[in-house]
Amino acid sequence: MEELGIIEDGSMAVQNGIIIDVGQTPELLDKYRAEVQLDASGKVVTPGLIDAHTHIIFAGSRENELEMKIKGTSYLEILKQGGGILRTVRETRRATRDELLAISRKRCNNMLLHGTTTIEAKSGYGLTLEDEIKLLQVIRALDEQSNLTLVPTFLGAHALPPEFEGKTADFVSTVTNEWIPKVTELKLAKFCDVFCEKGIFEVEDARKILEAGRAHGLLSKIHADEFTALGGAELAAEVGAVSADHVLYSRIEGFRAMRDKGVIAVLLPAAPLTLMLDKYADARALINMGVAVALGSDMSPSCWLENQQLLIALACYRLKITPAEAITASTINAAHACRMASKIGSLETGKKADIAVFDIPDYRFLGYVLDGNATDLVIKNGKIVVRNRSLCN
Ligand SMILES: [Zn+2]
Repeated sequence: MEELGIIEDGSMAVQNGIIIDVGQTPELLDKYRAEVQLDASGKVVTPGLIDAHTHIIFAGSRENELEMKIKGTSYLEILKQGGGILRTVRETRRATRDELLAISRKRCNNMLLHGTTTIEAKSGYGLTLEDEIKLLQVIRALDEQSNLTLVPTFLGAHALPPEFEGKTADFVSTVTNEWIPKVTELKLAKFCDVFCEKGIFEVEDARKILEAGRAHGLLSKIHADEFTALGGAELAAEVGAVSADHVLYSRIEGFRAMRDKGVIAVLLPAAPLTLMLDKYADARALINMGVAVALGSDMSPSCWLENQQLLIALACYRLKITPAEAITASTINAAHACRMASKIGSLETGKKADIAVFDIPDYRFLGYVLDGNATDLVIKNGKIVVRNRSLCN
């Protein structure tokens, strides 16, 4: 993850949205006559950034909960009082598809402005079949209509909906027997995810949901061991999940199982920060063991982060990974976490021309500077979509 393969004075040739050559500038200038030539002298060019974990489609906000958190109320206590996810579920159910599309489009555009060109996006604030489908349709519409690529994940088991209070087993069988078949019939999701946590969906429940997803062709992701060492990491390995996300409290045996099965650890340093936990995933142990680490914002009403440059800095300062590792985690490894690495995530011949140009003298400024937006140009499928920190049409 430390090896970025930097080419000093490098160039790329792009045709029809695809990178057709990469090399030294004099060499490429000899080989090609370009209709449009972009000069990035003195700047840093990276693959378009990829955010491997977001809950970007929701209505409303939860700024009141910041004060509760400051006074020491825990996430799970807020949830028990009808706040947290359940409040967002009420507000998201009330919102129409078009309203959700409009508010989510702004967030997608802001991500683009900061150099992000692909995000994973989860449902999970509908928690009825109809509302979950509504969210997944918004994800699909944004993927088609915006310049951001959205990779859809069905997270019907995000929380127990109020209608199923005290009936977790009934809800799990509803998700596995009714919701997953319908969502896959409509081809609305690539991944199936579950919030595996003590008192919410235990390992047994999560296993049933992920296996039902797999039986219908959905790849697995899991919210694992965010608050307790429940065994989510081990389950991810057992079911052959593409990624296990959070993994704050996972046991070392869980990490080993992930490594042996090639499960990617998606780390979300803004999540414990906004939960005011003094605990972060052990990124160094994961990397040293040979687990591939990717980064996600966890963008949601409780962790509102649209600037992936800040995410990279948080990863450096809180997870203690280097800027090079954080860039790998935000590009090629995040592409693997989205199962899109054959098309995006690196600047290589044959890949899509999803490119970010940062006005910084050295790539390490991406981890070093906390609050800025160094984006100079964003190119999506070979087309300039952001210039001078503004969206192009
Ligand atoms: Zn999440």
